[in-house]
Amino acid sequence: MEPSLIKQQRNLVTELPGPRSRVLAERRAAAVAPGVSSVLPLYVEEASGAVLVDVDGNSLIDLGAGIAVVSVGHAAPAVVDAVRAQIGRFSHTCFMVNPYEAYVEVCESLNARTPGEHLKRSVLFNSGAEAVENAVKIARHVTGRQAVVVFDHAYHGRTNLTMALTAKNMPYRHGFGPFAPEVYRVPMSYPFRDPEGMTGQQAADRAIEQIERLVGADNVACVLIEPIQGEGGFVVPAPGFLPAIATWCQERSVLLVADEIQTGFCRTGDWFACDAEGVVPDLITTAKALAGGMPLAAVTGRAEVMDGVHAGGLGGTYGGNPVACAAALASIDIMEREELADAAQRIGEAIRTTLEPLRTTHPGIGDIRGRGAMMAIELVVPGTTEPDADAARRIAQACHQAGVVVLTCGSYGNVIRLLPPLVIEDELLADGLDVLSGAITEVLSPAS
Ligand SMILES: *Cc1c(COP(=O)(O)O)cnc(C)c1O
Repeated sequence: MEPSLIKQQRNLVTELPGPRSRVLAERRAAAVAPGVSSVLPLYVEEASGAVLVDVDGNSLIDLGAGIAVVSVGHAAPAVVDAVRAQIGRFSHTCFMVNPYEAYVEVCESLNARTPGEHLKRSVLFNSGAEAVENAVKIARHVTGRQAVVVFDHAYHGRTNLTMALTAKNMPYRHGFGPFAPEVYRVPMSYPFRDPEGMTGQQAADRAIEQIERLVGADNVACVLIEPIQGEGGFVVPAPGFLPAIATWCQERSVLLVADEIQTGFCRTGDWFACDAEGVVPDLITTAKALAGGMPLAAVTGRAEVMDGVHAGGLGGTYGGNPVACAAALASIDIMEREELADAAQRIGEAIRTTLEPLRTTHPGIGDIRGRGAMMAIELVVPGTTEPDADAARRIAQACHQAGVVVLTCGSYGNVIRLLPPLVIEDELLADGLDVLSGAITEVLSPAS
């Protein structure tokens, strides 16, 4: 069975949601825990490239890529082939029982591509949260210190430790405590909301002053940071912020952990977001786009750090599953061969070119920011920085009704984010952005 070639075109053939999706919604309500929710009520039948086809035959443009996961496109043929071939050979042995080559090869690939020329080692897991938990485990073990410093607006996952690391109460933490101790939150560099003209160095000094005063550098195992924040609102720190944090970490023997789970693997126009300013973290967590849709995550770090953990101290039944590893090797190969980092830069330029002109006519657009194919629009009450979550919600809904998948994010829920597959065709992207522009105009025009 070959994956069908789905036309890279938006095409709506029923009202949304269509009758078959509505039936599934009823079954879902009776069977699925309501604590897990979905952005769109459209049930997917198949997908390819940047197009999702729902059970009623509607073709949607996917500008979310399953939250930055299918950067190589849905059902990328080389990934599908690699998965099929591997699952036919064996699907699981547990790397901790009987090892296999694909795990080793994924680690070699991560060690070669992540920032820094130093000797590295990697370890594989199933989810991003699991990778973050393990990065913290490793940092605490090798430093003999306990405190973990995180930032305002951070998102690191939904397990107990990562809930503690994540900033936002609703929906991630509300009522789910008590949370893991020894987590300290300091201010992020957020140029749109920081005092005007605040430099990256000044924002770093503000954070460092708090770490030294409230925690004490000698107690800090690691500083954990997303080089560009994801769920928190695609917050791009001011230039110089990350390098200043990295320098302080180095001087105080604090490990710098970059959470590149959302930013990694070509999304921002480089292999990793840290590359833009030449920042070299001690540990880096990856997941999402790593395996083209299969669940796989990793911690990659300096050999001398990673070698500090005793044999058997890290692992998990499924971590580095062979099918997921095969998918990762195929995905990374596509990123390299099709130069998807360059594609991400072109996509980012197309998004900026389309959206920037709207700023002059719509003062509700407070900020357009991002890097590469990780772009966002922050919506505010005109003339202020007061978040307008309602506008973001209405714009997203208008896009969904027109068959374009966009996601919202942000601590205040007022940010529309764009994360298209990096293989999206120019015309399809243009059509998706057209719909988005129309939705912005419709929602933000004074008459509406
Ligand atoms: C998605 C995400 C995570 C959590 O990954 P899961 O696979 O959902 O556990 C952690 N950090 C960042 C920056 C993320 O975007």
